[in-house]
Amino acid sequence: MNYDVVVVGAGPVGSTAARYAALNGASVLLLEEHPSIGSPVGCTGLLSTRAVTECELKPSDDFVFNSVRGVFVYAPDGQCLPIDGKQTKAYVISRKIFDRKLAVMAVEEGVVLSLRTRAVGLERRDPKNKIERKISPAPIKLMVLTNGKPETISASVVIGADGVKSRIASYAGLERPTRMLSGIQIEVPYKSKNIDFVEMFLGSSAPGFFAWTVPIDEKISRIGLAFEPSFACKNVHEKSYSLSYLEKFLRSNSHVKARYSGGMLDFVVGGIPIDPPKRTVSDGILLVGDAAGQVKPISAGGIYTGAFAAKIAGKVAADAVLEGNTSAQRLSEYDLLWRKYLGKEFDIGLKIHDYMGKLEDKQLNDLIGSLNTSSILKIITEYGDMDHPSVLMRKLIFSTNSIEFMKTLGIFLKTIF
Ligand SMILES: Cc1cc2nc3c(=O)[nH]c(=O)nc-3n(C[C@H](O)[C@H](O)[C@H](O)COP(=O)(O)OP(=O)(O)OC[C@H]3O[C@@H](n4cnc5c(N)ncnc54)[C@H](O)[C@@H]3O)c2cc1C
Repeated sequence: MNYDVVVVGAGPVGSTAARYAALNGASVLLLEEHPSIGSPVGCTGLLSTRAVTECELKPSDDFVFNSVRGVFVYAPDGQCLPIDGKQTKAYVISRKIFDRKLAVMAVEEGVVLSLRTRAVGLERRDPKNKIERKISPAPIKLMVLTNGKPETISASVVIGADGVKSRIASYAGLERPTRMLSGIQIEVPYKSKNIDFVEMFLGSSAPGFFAWTVPIDEKISRIGLAFEPSFACKNVHEKSYSLSYLEKFLRSNSHVKARYSGGMLDFVVGGIPIDPPKRTVSDGILLVGDAAGQVKPISAGGIYTGAFAAKIAGKVAADAVLEGNTSAQRLSEYDLLWRKYLGKEFDIGLKIHDYMGKLEDKQLNDLIGSLNTSSILKIITEYGDMDHPSVLMRKLIFSTNSIEFMKTLGIFLKTIF
């Protein structure tokens, strides 16, 4: 088996990278270790309208459960900051159907999809070795298990879209994302206050991040939380951290408790990388999506950013193969381009994430209180963007004249610069 580009991992990012490599003239194989696309998947399935557009899908009833126009932000003391975007800002989707649609789009462009195929090793052939050159001109030998049977695939470029625990990163000697949030979520019967809004709960119930409820319909919501392990309470056994936090949140938050009376339809846990490694390419290898830590540190959303980077990865991989140069230097075009468009948002997002994560419950209560004025809410509504938070930050810094908010902002600016 000999392909120009082999993409490992048929999540949303892998399917998009594979499709773009095929669209740009490469022969492409897409591998997925599981027997089914889109399952299992650890995700809330909350996608901004921009994320759906970036994936080149039209929102439709077959994968969109609900449309959301705003968020109720709850401070630890129960104060609620209602942010109403006035129009649809995000969709609550079925990741299973969404992932399948993206895989179908890849196959329609000529990508060969192989399920139950796990990448288990990778070697680079020596380009000066005549015998190796005769066997295959492709510089990479990818070892896989297909239905448990060992096989070898030759590739000019391998794209590692194999998620947060990327094996391709390890095989290629690339660093994996080191900073990780722990996420946990259940799908449950829940009587939503208003299904046009998601709910976000700040404070020590989810140290370093937040808890959420995301309505699928009037009766069912996804309730979850993520936290920064380094901020977590040290007297809980590490493996049970996530579950302990979620159980405590469900027990102690009176708003949630009043709407959820037990039962569970689904349960997921997963790591969320929030700090991309320094390098995402090496000779013949590109990393993309969670494998490259391309997740927004403020919202933990990785689909918009991953799909955006995947398109660049697919095109650069195909161009490099067709030019006959798949060196790290040639492929670094991908690294430069994705950082050019997403790097600043990640940097600013991480600073905001770090600042918010260190606030005590009392400080969070004050912050929410200071934001709860009609002039600030107007700015948030107008410029709030879950994919580009820096736009809102800039606007708030330059437009607000609330003394309370400026005080909070002053502390924030001192912390990050
Ligand atoms: C609790 C939680 C909630 C989240 N909520 C949201 C949200 O609401 N919105 C959002 O945008 N993001 C969310 N995310 C993040 C989002 O799920 C990821 O960013 C996204 O799935 C990344 O896509 P990916 O294709 O890079 O990786 P994945 O979706 O992880 O896909 C990787 C694929 O690679 C396959 N694979 C792995 N190793 C191999 C191998 N060796 N060989 C072959 N195949 C392999 C896996 O089976 C998998 O199918 C959430 C994450 C968590 C944990």
